[in-house]
Amino acid sequence: MSALAVSHVYPLGSRLNERGRLEVGGCDVVELAAEFGTPAYVYAEDDMRARARAFVEAFRARTERFEVIYASKAFPCTAVYRLFSEEGLSADVASGGELHLALAAGMDPKRLYMHGNNKSPAELDYALESGIGHIVADSFDEIARLSGRAQRVMLRVTPGIKPTTHSYIQTGQVDSKFGFPMDEVPRAVEACEAARLELCGLHAHIGSQILDVEVFEKLGEVLAAMGDYPLLNLGGGLGIAYTAEERAPSIEDYVDALLRHAPDDVTVLCEPGRALVGNAGVTIYTVGTVKRIPDVRTYVAVDGGMSDNLRPMLYGARYEAEIADRFGGGEICTIAGMHCESGDVLVRDVPLNDPRVGDVLVIPATGAYAHAMANNYNAVPRPPVIFCRDGDARVVVRRETYDDLTLRDR
Ligand code: PLP
Repeated sequence: MSALAVSHVYPLGSRLNERGRLEVGGCDVVELAAEFGTPAYVYAEDDMRARARAFVEAFRARTERFEVIYASKAFPCTAVYRLFSEEGLSADVASGGELHLALAAGMDPKRLYMHGNNKSPAELDYALESGIGHIVADSFDEIARLSGRAQRVMLRVTPGIKPTTHSYIQTGQVDSKFGFPMDEVPRAVEACEAARLELCGLHAHIGSQILDVEVFEKLGEVLAAMGDYPLLNLGGGLGIAYTAEERAPSIEDYVDALLRHAPDDVTVLCEPGRALVGNAGVTIYTVGTVKRIPDVRTYVAVDGGMSDNLRPMLYGARYEAEIADRFGGGEICTIAGMHCESGDVLVRDVPLNDPRVGDVLVIPATGAYAHAMANNYNAVPRPPVIFCRDGDARVVVRRETYDDLTLRDR
């Protein structure tokens, strides 16, 4: 690794510049911190475009029958719907709110898929009135709600395949709030017919952050054996590297696995979320306090935390961190947030280079499910989203203000 390279968890094209500072999308993140404040989500636009193209090209090299659907729950904002739409991707939405964002971004409603295990009548009406392409029906109640609406639907099924760290297990699992158990699918098909819905295919999503593509091959085999449908949607779930030791499967291997058992006349759909945006984004913070407790721990506290990234608290997710202009170093630190919870820890035991008050600290691989799960705990305004490309930075979601916080109060 040359002195200027950074690990593969950073956005494509990132490097340490001549001043030893991290550059994302050609922008010096210390300068971004000064210009836009911290915390902030910083994305390399070209990273997202390159990954979208890699999915499309991997399919195109193997088949004409495919659709790549951006699972927008990973990072829903109008700029990103627009970006992926420009790259020829469709999108899935999991609520009326995500539908609203996709439409506001100018996405063709025909290229949208709506998910959710409990879509409300109002959300279904909004989707139908918008002319949505497909609704992924999740329950008998939902089929009843859609009755007589002449809508194209898919059925979400729970095929009982559970990804484990390596390989998978088949459980015949029925204990899920999502979708139809396998043995209920024939009855769901009949219900769609009785409701005069146009049933186009099956959908399954078996989990997230999957680092072994074998499980997708099995899923394709199971779904293909369930009948003749024009569309088979194998969901999302392709994992990414969060730390330098981790390696994600290649997009080519993933697409190979999806297609291995697909009949020739079937269109295969997939819904990557994290794999499209996760490594494209980093979060930048300012260090506010450094508390060295001798022989115990060094706490480096930053100006964000569980309000801008819930994943460490929700799933024990592991990240790396660096001081943006002093990469490397070996002082083991714990990066704490500024919230009133002891559990508000972003990264435990990470080596930093002599952290000091005022430093800009960067956590990579925060592009998926960080902005998406941001909240206002402690009435902290949510950070802005900044897209960087060729050295130009633009704010695509502005920072929340204190006035925003009182806007809804009566
Ligand atoms: N599709 C569905 C139905 C999902 O529920 C999810 C995530 O929860 C995804 C796609 C995207 O998953 P990932 O971001 O892991 O690719």
